[in-house]
Amino acid sequence: MDGLPVQSLKRVGPKVAERLAKLGIRSVQDLLFHLPVRYQDRSRLVPIADLCLGSEALIQGVVEDSEIAMGRRRSLKVSLADAGGGRILLRFFHFSAQQAAALKVGAALRCYGEVRQGPASLEMIHPEYRIQGDASDETEPGLTPIYPSTEGLQQATWRGLIEQALALLERQSPVELLPQDVIAPRGLPSLREALSYLHRPPLEASLDDLLERRHPAFLRLAFEELIAHQVSLRRLRLAQQRVSAPTLVGDGTLRERLCAALPFALTAAQARVVREIATDLARPHPMQRLLQGDVGSGKTIVAALAALQALEAGFQVALMAPTELLSEQHMRNLSAWLQPLGIASLWLAGRHKGAERAERLAAIASGTAKLVIGTHALFQDQVEFKDLGLVIIDEQHRFGVHQRMKLREKRGRDGAAPHQLIMTATPIPRSLAMTLYADLDLSVIDALPPGRTPITTVAVRDTRRDEVIERVMLACQQGRQAYWVCTLIEESEALECQAAEDTARQLSEGLPDLSVGLVHGRLKAAERDRVMADFAAGRLDLLVATTVIEVGVDVPNASLMIIENPERLGLAQLHQLRGRVGRGGVESHCLLLYHAPLSEVARERLGIIRGSTSGFEIAERDLAIRGAGEVLGTRQTGAIQFRVADTVRDQQLTAPAQRAADVILARHPELVEPLIDRWLGARESYGQV
Ligand code: ADP
Ligand code: MG
Repeated sequence: MDGLPVQSLKRVGPKVAERLAKLGIRSVQDLLFHLPVRYQDRSRLVPIADLCLGSEALIQGVVEDSEIAMGRRRSLKVSLADAGGGRILLRFFHFSAQQAAALKVGAALRCYGEVRQGPASLEMIHPEYRIQGDASDETEPGLTPIYPSTEGLQQATWRGLIEQALALLERQSPVELLPQDVIAPRGLPSLREALSYLHRPPLEASLDDLLERRHPAFLRLAFEELIAHQVSLRRLRLAQQRVSAPTLVGDGTLRERLCAALPFALTAAQARVVREIATDLARPHPMQRLLQGDVGSGKTIVAALAALQALEAGFQVALMAPTELLSEQHMRNLSAWLQPLGIASLWLAGRHKGAERAERLAAIASGTAKLVIGTHALFQDQVEFKDLGLVIIDEQHRFGVHQRMKLREKRGRDGAAPHQLIMTATPIPRSLAMTLYADLDLSVIDALPPGRTPITTVAVRDTRRDEVIERVMLACQQGRQAYWVCTLIEESEALECQAAEDTARQLSEGLPDLSVGLVHGRLKAAERDRVMADFAAGRLDLLVATTVIEVGVDVPNASLMIIENPERLGLAQLHQLRGRVGRGGVESHCLLLYHAPLSEVARERLGIIRGSTSGFEIAERDLAIRGAGEVLGTRQTGAIQFRVADTVRDQQLTAPAQRAADVILARHPELVEPLIDRWLGARESYGQV
């Protein structure tokens, strides 16, 4: 039955098939994996007098009164009474003349709906109802499933389709893809049992277990999905190990010279990570390593040392940053390190057009440009490298999984693939990293360079704005610099830039002795660069900015940051922003200028940010109150949309799914394809190498 198209069911014509396809449902099997979002108990009639506010219930009674009220909105009000003497008002805002006529005094009705408090009595607004001609007292034998739907597909249609699919399931089960040695030890039901339970739970099923998705039937499916995902990433990784890559050994001279020139010594954590990378680069297969390190942990120098190893071996290196601003900063920092060693770096940005661009492309193609720095535009097809040995991706959380996979397609000399180092400051909790990055090796810089003074974070209500402005003045008078960050308003970049402009104007008026700069995403690149350079050089005291400065920007003398409306940002983003200060030797402060009242969750989240400066701790706690998608941002998770599993809720399944994936790859290789096909299907475009 695995490949049976939905069209083989009754009542599925082209229209219904098209609507189903919108939800990714093409086969009968897909239909069976489309699980109810919730369930209703229509198994028993509730006496009207016993109704609980807020619950959904099945009731039955006789219409006592029916009128069309004109009021603010025209509505049909039907008063229903049952044998127990209870009364409830049914209210309809949309109704036809026939409906109004049918709901006449004396009509016997059976209704299902949510019980609400109306102005005068309990009400149901737009209940589902049936006029009972015959007095059939049938109730549903089990809980009634409610399916996630799309326009034009009624619940009744869903139930009809699922009914047919379940009938097929009885005769011919979808292939069981989890071997006994994987499911039996966990006491999970078979696929067939799990599916029929979830679509047709018996009356005695616990609604809570079903709703919170911790019933074994549910876990069975989530487990299978997580395994499929693991298997897919593992397979990718295995395939990668069969690809060849240049062995980048090098004699170490450039690295030694750089280290000798640095004003600091590497921390133990940095040194360890440098060694891990060095070992990978010397292997004949492409490195696939994720380097995690909190903001300010010093990832750039690690990247520079990796680059030098490749350069020593005579290969080119590409460094990719998510924004031009950051790529330019890398250009500045890295050339300062590498130029004295006689290494030519080249920056390729959107602004390089026409002849200038052609010239740069030629330098990349001929190999005269050794280190090439840019945004992901570097991986457009016209950019040809001569000897690309290593690709470094900074701040990977801004790149989607697809981009990561696409990189792997770039091949160098003799079809060999370049090594890849992916750096991220987004601390990904371990359980999540295991799920999302099972195809990567992990290195962690788990300590900050010495001499940093921790950032003190306080929340200040925006009614105290004047005091905050004064604080900025004091800090700047003492020779410090400050950031003032304006946050996104209603997802509109234009409005955000506007807000930043207004704020900058206001602050320069309020702080006439200070020089105030402004950067936002809509400034011309040259203008923005000039402002950033002025701020970095200390010619500006205060920098008003939008969240464009979120990642990577490094100005050690800046020790004060004001973030307006921090409640609008995710915790990871707040932490990233805050990481712009606390980079020098002086004590730094971050003021969260919030607008009251705060919601419960907002308050809790600002509390987390205030209470911790560890990105990992923040991420763990953020994960506990929000979903994984939110922690990472939609851009990140776009490619990993789980259908049933939830990386946070089902965390306890992560490690077992990993072990199961190993068992399947080793002992049941024939299950690999069907598993990936069932759960990732067409979406697994990144699963092929
Ligand atoms: P991130 O990991 O956020 O990219 P950076 O690489 O920008 O961090 O480093 C932050 C700052 O710390 C830079 O000014 C860098 O020169 C400095 N730094 C890096 N490593 C060390 C070290 N071992 N000791 C002292 N300062 C360091
Ligand atoms: Mg960085």
